[in-house]
Parts: sequence; C-alpha cells; structure tokens
Amino acid sequence: MHVLVTGGAGFLGSHLCDALLAEGHSVVCADNLLTGRMENLAHLQHEPRFKFLEQDVSRPFDAGKVDYIFHFASPASPVDYLEHAIETLQVGSLGSLNCLELAQKYGARFLLASTSECYGDPLEHPQKETYWGHVNPVGPRSVYDESKRFAEAATMAYYRHRRVDTRIVRIFNTYGPRLQISDGRVISNFMKQALRGEALTVYGDGSQTRSFCYVSDEVAGILALSKSDEHEPTNIGNPVEFTILECAEAVLEVTGSSSKLRFEPLPQDDPRQRRPDISKAKHLLGWEPTIDLRSGLRLSLDYFKSAVQARLS
Ligand code: UDP
Repeated sequence: MHVLVTGGAGFLGSHLCDALLAEGHSVVCADNLLTGRMENLAHLQHEPRFKFLEQDVSRPFDAGKVDYIFHFASPASPVDYLEHAIETLQVGSLGSLNCLELAQKYGARFLLASTSECYGDPLEHPQKETYWGHVNPVGPRSVYDESKRFAEAATMAYYRHRRVDTRIVRIFNTYGPRLQISDGRVISNFMKQALRGEALTVYGDGSQTRSFCYVSDEVAGILALSKSDEHEPTNIGNPVEFTILECAEAVLEVTGSSSKLRFEPLPQDDPRQRRPDISKAKHLLGWEPTIDLRSGLRLSLDYFKSAVQARLS
C-alpha cells in the first residue's frame, strides 16, 4: 500500500511512519517542519520506500496517488499550539479539507488524528466517545480544540456526503522517545528537569489528572483502527489515571533524581481530569495498552538523557 502521512516528522507521526514501513508499505511524509523535526526521520534517510515532502498541507497540494492518508499534521502540545495559534487553526480546517479532497480524488482511505481535547475540560469522567465535550470556544486552547472538532465534522461530512472511507482516532496524552524536550508537555518538562537536577514545575496544586499512553501502544491502536471499518470517533489511550503529582513522583523514581517540586500557576482552561474509556477500542479492535507509566518512562530514559545532553553541548 502507498501511504501519505501528514505531520510525519512529528513525535507521533514519525513513529507511525516507522510502523507503516515495518508493515511493508511505502510512505510519503508531508510536513512543513513548523513543529516537526527532520531528526525524527534521520534513520529513514536511506529507506527506498520512504519519501519526505516539505509541504504545508494547509495549502492545496497533491502528493500523487495514494491508498491511505493519515492526517497527523498539527502543532499538538499546548505550548506549540499557543505559539502557532493561526497555523493550528489552518491545519485543522484547511489542512483537513485539502487532505479529504485528496482522499476523494484518489479513492484513498483516510484517518484523522483527533484528540481528547475535543472533550475540553470534561464534565463526564472517564470520557466515552458519546460525550460531546465541554470546550471553551473562545479560550486560549480553543485554537486546537475547535480546529480538531472542525476536522472531525469535516471528516464525517466527507464520509456521509462524498463517500470517502474515513476513520477518526481520539488520541489521549502520549509520550515516549522523540517527544521534543522543549514542547512544554508535562512528561517532557518533568524528564528534562529531573535529569538536569532542576525543580519540577507543577502547575496548580498538581491534583489535576491525565492518563499517559506509551507511544508503541498508541501506534498499535491507531493501526488497528485504520484496518477496521469503524467510522465514528474511537478513543485510543491508556485508561490508567495519574494526578500530576503522581506523575512527578514516577519521573523522580525512574530518573533517580532528587529534584524538588516548584508550584506554578495553572494555565487557563487546563482540564481538571482526563481518562479515556477504551471499552469501544477493546471490543472493536481487541486492543488495549500493555506498557504502564513507569515502564514507558524507563523505555524513554535514554532518549531524554541524550536529548538533554545535546541541548547542553
Ligand atoms: N503540567 C505541569 N507542569 C508542566 C507541564 C504541564 O504541571 O511543566 C500540567 C498541565 O497543567 C496539565 C498536565 O500537566 O494539567 C498535562 O499537560 P500537557 O501540557 O502535557 O498536556 P495537556 O494534557 O494539557 O494537553
């Protein structure tokens, strides 16, 4: 199969490219490198089945005939999408429409990387796919939340009205090697700070929760969904929930660091709690995550050590 991955130079996109290549497919990665990095693809330099296209998918483009499009392009960490607010809106709206048009043109299947942010600061817990969310449409995070909600609407419209064979994955917090240490996410900040012996910056009182999925589990779930016939959104994430204080504890344990904690203000509209209900994915795909947080952090340790060292030198 010939596959197009938009955002393939990003953290998750690059792992997806690896997994697709490992399955024997040929992959074109389209990325404008706004937040993606060529380092994430350096190991594919001599791979004949892989091609990199420097392309902003918010502008009309045609990567040639493909059988499957995985639309992963978007700034995805709060720090990145707040810095690139307009680009985030563009790639979720125009970028999604461009990719859906391309899917229609070539009769390609299409999978949208959506997000747990569609649930906003959720009033239902854990979050099932049937929950419509609690999103502030004009808050700082809305550039990401609403563009992904628009992208989901666009995907369903192309499925219903243009007969494009689509899928939607709602991705929950994912971590692992290649997570950019400057992206401001909690795992990247804590790992970096712990390894440098700096205080771990806990926003608010650290009682807010997240559920962290190791990247290989996330990619396995996404691939399973891509092969299914499910068109409605499906949660893929790890349902084990941690407070941010518990997450800090896990990072200190795995890194062996004696860093202290430093409490900082909670960002506006920071969701209080987040945990996927994955019954649908379990039932439909026979998928569930296998790597717990401490094991995943251990698997990521070498990467974070070298990323921190590269930043120092
Ligand atoms: N967070 C924190 N310290 C940091 C970075 C993030 O306490 O240095 C908190 C943040 O306020 C949020 C959670 O960790 O409650 C997850 O934040 P992240 O930016 O990783 O992703 P989000 O799930 O909010 O998109």
